[in-house]
Amino acid sequence: MVVQFNGKVALVTGGASGIGRAAALAFARNGAKVVVADVLQAEGEETVALARAENTDAMFVPTDVSQRAAVEALVATAVDYYGRIDFAFNNAGISGPQAMLVDYPEEMWDRVIDINLKGVWLCMKYEIQQMLRQGGGVIVNTSSTTGQLGSRRVSPYVASKHGIVGLTKAAALEYARDNIRVNAVLPGTIHTPLIDRLTGGDERVLAQFAESEPVGRLGTPEEVASAVIWLCSDGASFVTGTSLAVDGGRLA
Ligand code: NAD
Repeated sequence: MVVQFNGKVALVTGGASGIGRAAALAFARNGAKVVVADVLQAEGEETVALARAENTDAMFVPTDVSQRAAVEALVATAVDYYGRIDFAFNNAGISGPQAMLVDYPEEMWDRVIDINLKGVWLCMKYEIQQMLRQGGGVIVNTSSTTGQLGSRRVSPYVASKHGIVGLTKAAALEYARDNIRVNAVLPGTIHTPLIDRLTGGDERVLAQFAESEPVGRLGTPEEVASAVIWLCSDGASFVTGTSLAVDGGRLA
């Protein structure tokens, strides 16, 4: 999707890999300056190099989104360098280990919730403060089809992704009169390193995943990025508080 984001600034968490990298590059291709945040330094710098190759400016800020001080510093750094944050894609997330609910290790439960759910709240907390100062902005949070459906053996992941849908609605209502739109994307099964880790890269398992999808294939990170770009564009100017499935029909 091609829109005009020249002079705009986009912040992307989890921008070192998968959906976040594809979104960072899509923002860059559409002319926005990009702030890439992630815990992975080398891969984050690689995203920045790829974004710069699209003839825009980009920077990497090492950030653990579950840490309040790190997120506050991320937003401050972005504003120091580029003066504003027009778009924020709060996308960093982990799947966590697989285990039945009664066996789920408490420290991993906390970790999944801290990164996936608290991380989105922390990011919005500081992004919205800046957006209020500058008179508006657009936020997109990454949930999942498991933000609406259950799934076995990943209970904190499911809980965190349902939580993101609720948090998105709450934020959208609180700031609807401040020219700040807040939406979520619900990716289906998207072929990224996260899925490769889940399947152990086993082609047969990947083929089974694809076969179980209504469209008969996995999605691409670029297909999710395209929805994010649209949600940030003026074409979505009356869209706030919604959860947009990008799932090849999984939720149908
Ligand atoms: P990925 O593993 O390729 O990318 C996730 C990125 O988040 C990585 O670069 C990772 O380093 C980063 N990250 C992890 N913990 C972090 C932290 N504490 N602070 C900052 N960055 C951190 O996975 P992906 O598939 O691109 O997933 C991106 C998002 O999409 C996640 O929120 C995931 O839950 C969601 N999602 C993915 C799928 C899928 O099928 N791939 C489906 C639904 C939702």
